[in-house]
Amino acid sequence: MADETAVADTGAEQPGESSGTGESGESGEELRFAYSGGDSEEWAGDLTGRRLGSRLPRLVGRSFALAWAVDRGAVVALLVCQLVSGLSGALGLFATTRALGALIGAAQNPGHLGSAVPSVLVLAAAAGVRAVLGVAIQGLSNRLAPRISREAEFRMLEAATNAEMAAYDHPGFNDRYDKADRGVEVSRDMIGQSQNLVSSLATLVAAAVVITALAPVLLPLLLLTAVPQALASVKGERITYLSFLATFHDRRMLNMLRWNLTHKDQADQIRTDTLAPYLLAKYRASGTKVDRTNDRAAWQRARVTLLGSAAGGLAAALMWGGVMFLLGTGRIGAASAGTVVFALRSAAQGLQGIVGYGSDLMRTGRYMDDWESFVEEAAGQRLDRGALVPGRPRHVALHRVGYRYPEADEDTLHEVDFEVRQGEIVAVVGENGSGKTTLMKLLSGLNLPTEGVVAWDGVSTRDLDPHALWRQTAVVPQEFARWPMSARENIHLGQPRPGGDEEVRRAAAASGADDVVARLRSGLDTLLAREWWGGVALSSGQWQRIAVARATHRDAGLLVMDEPTSDLDPRAEHRIFTGLRRLAEDRAVVLVTHNLSNTVIADRIVVMDRGRVVQQGSFQELTTRPGLMRDLWLLQQDRSAPPGVDGALRGD
Ligand code: ADP
Repeated sequence: MADETAVADTGAEQPGESSGTGESGESGEELRFAYSGGDSEEWAGDLTGRRLGSRLPRLVGRSFALAWAVDRGAVVALLVCQLVSGLSGALGLFATTRALGALIGAAQNPGHLGSAVPSVLVLAAAAGVRAVLGVAIQGLSNRLAPRISREAEFRMLEAATNAEMAAYDHPGFNDRYDKADRGVEVSRDMIGQSQNLVSSLATLVAAAVVITALAPVLLPLLLLTAVPQALASVKGERITYLSFLATFHDRRMLNMLRWNLTHKDQADQIRTDTLAPYLLAKYRASGTKVDRTNDRAAWQRARVTLLGSAAGGLAAALMWGGVMFLLGTGRIGAASAGTVVFALRSAAQGLQGIVGYGSDLMRTGRYMDDWESFVEEAAGQRLDRGALVPGRPRHVALHRVGYRYPEADEDTLHEVDFEVRQGEIVAVVGENGSGKTTLMKLLSGLNLPTEGVVAWDGVSTRDLDPHALWRQTAVVPQEFARWPMSARENIHLGQPRPGGDEEVRRAAAASGADDVVARLRSGLDTLLAREWWGGVALSSGQWQRIAVARATHRDAGLLVMDEPTSDLDPRAEHRIFTGLRRLAEDRAVVLVTHNLSNTVIADRIVVMDRGRVVQQGSFQELTTRPGLMRDLWLLQQDRSAPPGVDGALRGD
């Protein structure tokens, strides 16, 4: 609920508040992130003392299980240290009674002072052991924490790479990823919190054992002091978590703005479009809303904590009254009373630790829940396809295929039939938005069709092992990656072929990337990352040559190229297209291009219009017979000025 309110606020306040310019032309759709919290809100509502009790053991178990996965030896050592520390705590308390008894006796008869020595020695030894173990426990926790965090991150990254591509089009996937990421961030705290909780529990148990032995009637009073504080702490956690949910969208907005304001890709447009003040104002507006919500939560929390402490203080007064009563009525002796005082102090510390670390752990646990659910099912999008391993495809085909993007109102592809065979080059053309890129994603098994079948040698891509399928696929997407790695790695992508650099150079020569590499300071070894020390920046066209070299280097049976030469100069483009026929000898090649003269080399051209295949044929056929291809071709050839322009230029 709180979340929904925050979303509504975001939309209502942002434009006016942020720009400060008062333009009202911003009545468009509000920027609303797709995920509204899911079970998080339910969880916050359910955050009660009862749940605290039932969840804490599970959370402690989980943190030790994660620690176990990264370093078993350290976990065993940690548990042994905890146990011995708890035992020495109890031993120390019992020794206190004897020591106090002896000391009180010695006060009356100084000759008996020596009898206190053994108990005092035990006391000192117990304290010493606890101190040494405390250092060991701290060291072990410090050793485990970063390892746990890295393991958590590794599992999350693994889950993300094992999600269906379509996941990114599902509302909430990115938000779930962000939440899981928060889980990774806090995972390093989990072991410390768990071990502090266990240690507080050990302290409490040791004290409770002593109190039970000496004055059992005080035990319920002790509990009474803890309950109000525990309840206040749980309620405080709930308040904090609800404010976290309420600010979720604004915090995401802040992240998004931060990225956009600083990333190199947009840096030029931020300047030339003089956009910075507008975006900065948006940033400030979201920040203010986050602060306002946090302030409200902090105030509520302070009130609750104050109430809890007052009630706890009252109960503590009752308990101390009980101690005085027991002593005054002679129900316990002076030595026992002294020990009980020590035990009560130590029990109070234990209780405080349990409540404090318990609520810390609950919070961490909540984020870890997000992490766990992401790791387990990649937000419901884990790759779950067949296990058949395809060979080099000889025939890739779409049969009556329809595709609708998640949450889209209508299908992007309708009843598409399409095929490409080994040795063949098929060009796909059509206007923007006609579905060409979507078709490429289906051919290469990145997405699965929502209707019909995409088959590789007669086997549906649903039944094929996706990773094996992608090993047989080379794709040059429109937006190709520019990996911050060496030129060599940017071409072989960590999968060198048996010929090593020889193959890398051959692929580079086929795309014109050899000229790029030749001019690099250290050739193939050069780091292609401007942001890194010593890295080199390439132009878009140079990068595109590298991207095409990548696909050429890959020994894959299906080559899919989506506008592979859009940024290339005529020489480089010519080199790629003349080399394509040789590449196609043992590959099935699909090529999307807007430059229709490039389709001359294709064996077949498929023309798409609004998600349907409307024409198929050779270049000769399609450019001579009436139809969309001929229209587009004629438009591309027509470079005459639009009507009226000539006259205007002449000043008619
Ligand atoms: P083309 O490559 O021919 O320009 P696309 O295949 O990229 O066309 O897109 C076809 C249609 O699918 C467009 O109308 C676009 O709005 C829609 N579309 C593309 N990607 C997505 C997406 N991730 N989610 C929803 N709709 C999408």
